[in-house]
Amino acid sequence: MNKKITVIPGDGIGPEVIRSAIKVLDCIAAKFNHEFTYQYAKLGGVAIDEEGTPLPQRTIDLCKDSDGVLLGAVGGPKWDTLPGSLRPEKGLLGIRKALQLYANLRPVKAHKSLLDASTLKKEVVEGVDLLIVRELTGGLYFGQPQERRHEADGEAVVDTLYYKKSEIERIVKQAFELARLRNKKVTSVDKANVLESSRLWREVAVEVAGNYPDIELEHMLVDNAAMQLIRNPKQFDVVVTENMFGDILSDEASMLTGSLGMLPSASIGGDGPGLYEPIHGSAPDIAGKNIANPLATILSVAMMLRFSFHWIEEADAIEEAVTNVLEAGYRTGDIAEKGETILNTDEMTEKVLENIHLAITN
Ligand code: NAD
Repeated sequence: MNKKITVIPGDGIGPEVIRSAIKVLDCIAAKFNHEFTYQYAKLGGVAIDEEGTPLPQRTIDLCKDSDGVLLGAVGGPKWDTLPGSLRPEKGLLGIRKALQLYANLRPVKAHKSLLDASTLKKEVVEGVDLLIVRELTGGLYFGQPQERRHEADGEAVVDTLYYKKSEIERIVKQAFELARLRNKKVTSVDKANVLESSRLWREVAVEVAGNYPDIELEHMLVDNAAMQLIRNPKQFDVVVTENMFGDILSDEASMLTGSLGMLPSASIGGDGPGLYEPIHGSAPDIAGKNIANPLATILSVAMMLRFSFHWIEEADAIEEAVTNVLEAGYRTGDIAEKGETILNTDEMTEKVLENIHLAITN
């Protein structure tokens, strides 16, 4: 099959980890008789430098005209002092909005061979396999008004938490669908004891659950969820929540496994392509050194094959190769323990490629 992928390397280590991901895609194409057409686009800092805007219209057009979008990372100190509308993050928020990607999926799976990389006790982390489903296009980050005000008694500020019922329905439904493919439990996280928006969220979750009698639904207040993620993360399967709660909880959950360099993500939901990216940023401190961990981006490719193309065998091949490489003891600097041999980005990528070849040949 032929698929068109828009590739956005971005800034910092983005281009380095994207190079690795493309090698993996080429390997999958060769092994499974597929063909990928790549079209490259600019976003973030590099787009500001070259085109004067973090999100050029051409990037939106290319993304819309593709089957999947693969993104490295954007941002860096060079652009930190620009005004808000010109910051690299605007490009990121803008492309998600333009593609109507309302669901952000972040799987967090503890790899047996990396349990020591976590700051939590081994027995707390072992066996963790959860998926955070975050609403991505509504809530506080987009509600209007969002402004500073000069009032008679001094300066004031307002952000607006706004959701349509239909926006809550579609994300909660997405979570239930995903739970069906996993361990059949949804934890809906809200702040229903305080916020009206959360009270509607909870009502909708109950309504949607009526159509999924095979899935268990539980409600959890966000403050308790933050605590439970550290105390007993194994209790979670699919966690669904609104934009800001999801932003915070997904970063917290990502730390369960100990390394940013291991975690992929997907943003899906619109009529067009999904967007796949590692959760880490552009890591300016290690950019250009060929030492970044490419596995999060490689696992993001696996998510693209699984969720956008429904190529389960191909996605499994990548995920198994990553697990095998880790179990064989190969490490990049960010996940290495004292005394372990450290591979650079290209060497780690080669190990994954060898493993995909091996798995398919056998
Ligand atoms: P970061 O994720 O870039 O880096 C945090 C730490 O983790 C650094 O020490 C970095 O070296 C390390 N790290 C991250 N990814 C790694 C990898 N693949 N392999 C090895 N080590 C890795 O977060 P930050 O330093 O807070 O942000 C740097 C820039 O990235 C900022 O401009 C920020 O706005 C941007 N950012 C972008 C995204 C995105 O594009 N989605 C996400 C977060 C941050």
